[in-house]
Amino acid sequence: MNCCNQKPIIELSAGEKLCKSHFTEYFESKVFKTIRQFDLIEKEEHLGIALSGGKDSLTLLHLLNKLSKQNPKIRLTAIAINEGIHDYRDKTLITAKEFCEKNNIPLHIYSFEDEFGMSLDDALKILDVKPCTICGIFRRYLLNKKSKELGFTKLATGHNLDDEAQSILMNQFKNNIQASARLGPKVGIKHAQAASGTGSIGNKNFVQRIKPLYLCTEKEVTVYAYINGLLDNFNECPNVSKSYRAQIRDMLNNFENDNPGTKYAIINSFLQALPDLKGRFKDGEINSCSNCGEPSSKDKCNACKFADKLEKAKVTVKS
Ligand code: SF4
Ligand SMILES: [Zn+2]
Ligand SMILES: [Zn+2]
Repeated sequence: MNCCNQKPIIELSAGEKLCKSHFTEYFESKVFKTIRQFDLIEKEEHLGIALSGGKDSLTLLHLLNKLSKQNPKIRLTAIAINEGIHDYRDKTLITAKEFCEKNNIPLHIYSFEDEFGMSLDDALKILDVKPCTICGIFRRYLLNKKSKELGFTKLATGHNLDDEAQSILMNQFKNNIQASARLGPKVGIKHAQAASGTGSIGNKNFVQRIKPLYLCTEKEVTVYAYINGLLDNFNECPNVSKSYRAQIRDMLNNFENDNPGTKYAIINSFLQALPDLKGRFKDGEINSCSNCGEPSSKDKCNACKFADKLEKAKVTVKS
């Protein structure tokens, strides 16, 4: 892209420097191109947007809102999960609510407290488990379950290129290639019943997930969110430093600093291998949990297993 003589606000990993208006144009056209390239959104949809109130999901909702205004058959509903993380999620949810109110987007909020009987903060006091493990399992469970109840045709998430590169490496480092078969810009198949809104939806299917920010780096999303006034403060989960992902993130950022383009290379090579991976593991995760009916590769899903552990721990604490 040719930039003008305005002051540059960002240097891209290819070394290009862009001013505010040219960066905005570059970023938005990249997201809309990603949507077309991977066929993420059809002409008629009821899209759920997983909204945390952070920079990624606000940017995603802001851009999909633009798209929906030009295409009224694309309906948007935001869905947020309140894990119960003191001094963090309460703040980001205020931003999320304000954004949705200002833009007339319906927002549904579900909490760990209501759905599993305990906030994440309290669960971590009685269970010996890594915060992100239980948080991720409960959050993914609720997003899938509630997306089906709300009749979403797809669930859009704010995952960016950095998130995806981290996930690819994490799976590689943990010898969990099967998990990588569930990555990519579009995951799962669109559920016909969800599209027609006919109620009961087969539990064997995940609600299809799409990632329109797939080719945008974390740095690009951050700059876009700030220059477009989507958020004015930075909040980070207090548990993030304890996560395996944070170790991979820091390592990858250092590596990218010394070798610009590394993250793009990880994504591009992964996209070439993805069709083979999906073919190889296409029969995985076809069962339903015997307890709740949600998708599970085992008899009981991980969310139900953790919910059971919580119940037992609560009884032990009381007695
Ligand atoms: S960093 Fe971990 S604990 Fe915090 S919101 Fe993310 S997954 Fe949950
Ligand atoms: Zn310019
Ligand atoms: Zn279950």
